[in-house]
Order: sequence, then C-alpha cells, then structure tokens
Amino acid sequence: MIQVAAAVIIKDGQCLITRRAPGQNLAGLWEFPGGKLEPGETPEDCLKRELCEELSIKISVGRFIAESRFGYPSGSIHLLAYQATWESGKLQLSVHDDYAWVASNKLLEYSYPPADEPILQAIIQGG
Ligand code: C5P
Repeated sequence: MIQVAAAVIIKDGQCLITRRAPGQNLAGLWEFPGGKLEPGETPEDCLKRELCEELSIKISVGRFIAESRFGYPSGSIHLLAYQATWESGKLQLSVHDDYAWVASNKLLEYSYPPADEPILQAIIQGG
C-alpha cells in the first residue's frame, strides 16, 4: 500500500485542483495536489516538498481532513488529505497541465481519480 498525501488549499473561498498531464497515470483527471510519501517522511513534510517541486509554492499544512484507500491496477494507495495554506511563491506547473480555483459548489463539475472522491465529499460537506 503506497502512502500518498494531498493538499486542500482554499483561498478566497475557492479550492485549488490540478489536472494530471498526458502520459501520467490517470491523465486528464483533476486532483488535490500531492504525491507519495518518501521513506521516513510525514504527510506534512511530503506535502511541503511535493507542492514546492510540482507547483513551486510554499505552503503550511493544517488539520487532517479525510483519508481513503483505493486499489488502482498500478497498485493500492492510502490517500491522506490535509488542509493547507498557500504561504508564498507564484504557481508554476511542472507536472500537471492545468490548474483551477473552484468554489466548493462547483467542485463536482470536474472528474477526479476514485481515491479523491471521499476527500471531495468531505470538502463539500464542510469537512
Ligand atoms: O502523483 P503521484 O503519481 O506521485 O501519485 C501517486 C499515486 O497516487 C498515483 O497512483 C496517483 O494516481 C495517486 N493519487 C491520487 N490522488 C491524488 C494524488 C495522487 O489518487 N490526489
């Protein structure tokens, strides 16, 4: 089971989602940005590293929101989602091919990897 962390960044009432680029697993689907934990890394450390590497932004990590487990053909993941705050940096994509700031009542208009669905529900329900 691969441990994966995802960040839910909400700014001015809108949530940041990013789109997986062609050639990636689950290409074209939108996700809460994040990635795999490296050995010995906490989810908080992982999110700070991943968002710096993938989006060029610095974040602080807040409270745990929700988790899910899902078996993809490529392997099973345990996804842990945390609230996060954008602290600094200008967003620049290096892995994804698009991003969007979306109000919570519009989040369902996008398609997500199945592991992200419980996270989505928690956000929509105000979790
Ligand atoms: O981004 P990365 O490829 O490192 O993610 C590892 C695994 O976690 C992939 O299988 C990806 O599809 C999955 N993932 C996910 N939801 C996210 C982030 C990653 O299902 N928000």
